[in-house]
Amino acid sequence: MSDARTGVPRPVSEGCDADREGSATIRPSAPAVNGLAEGRVSRAACQALNDALQWRQDSGRPVRLWLRDDDAVQPGEALDRLLNMTQAQGIPLTLAVIPAFSGAALAQRLQPLPTVEVAVHGWAHMNHAAATEKKQELGRQRPLEQTCAELQRGLQHLQQWHGAQCLPLLVPPWNRIAASLIPRLSSIGFRAVSTFADIRFESMPMLNTHVDIIDWKGSRAKPQEERDGRRVAADEAAARTQARSTRDADELFAELTARLLAGCDITGLLTHHLVHEPPAWHFLEQLFELTSRHPIVQWTAASHLLSAEFPDPGFPGQQQATVPGL
Ligand SMILES: [Zn+2]
Repeated sequence: MSDARTGVPRPVSEGCDADREGSATIRPSAPAVNGLAEGRVSRAACQALNDALQWRQDSGRPVRLWLRDDDAVQPGEALDRLLNMTQAQGIPLTLAVIPAFSGAALAQRLQPLPTVEVAVHGWAHMNHAAATEKKQELGRQRPLEQTCAELQRGLQHLQQWHGAQCLPLLVPPWNRIAASLIPRLSSIGFRAVSTFADIRFESMPMLNTHVDIIDWKGSRAKPQEERDGRRVAADEAAARTQARSTRDADELFAELTARLLAGCDITGLLTHHLVHEPPAWHFLEQLFELTSRHPIVQWTAASHLLSAEFPDPGFPGQQQATVPGL
């Protein structure tokens, strides 16, 4: 293995176990998950990411990573697993919470965790688009006033329950929002928007995610019953049958590596704990193990990234939430 720039041979990086030909794993800090072989990153992909990190370190260019997990509503086994993993590795987490189906239980679960922040994931994650359109809750299908009223209610609802843990950060369901809504967001309390990839709105601070670990195969929807136990809507039931899977671990590592080599200062990782299969958890274990203690990597809270990029009193940084009624 050689340095990507100089060709100087380097030993296999720490954290990689060359335990079988052509593959490597990061030694897990937690008990192995079922299907350990699934989601295993190859030695080459692991080394490439390590090389890119080393290049950033040699260049004196910090790597800032942030983690956004979508569709949180209630505490549960999957959320516990995500929280335990991130807490164990000291990784801040932004949970995009669906306000309509969330309340005291989630607030109580998150309150002791000051490195967990909450963002507003629309109002009810309800699709209002026609069957021929991509799913949208915040599209142009309804009057702007109606959508704004829902979003304002969602922000206030989560602020009530999560206090300062709730950021004035809007995460549009399905990462889609009508451009005509953007100029209205500040008047209802939002200070920034987070979507995916290169989506930009000039008039609004943006903190996007860039690497989605799930291969949605076009569905990009979660069954309603996974969120609140209510009756499954017909279109969402159809979405359940659509295949989705964790993307190949090597492909994900390669995407991250490419962003590091391209000089990207901030990279957002997008996860959905409710639909994680063993490979997804295993991928996260490997990535966290590799990056969390690397000297050039800064896993950073969304509030800190936003306050650094867009100085604004709306992003006070991490504070302990005061949860009413608890
Ligand atoms: Zn969502």
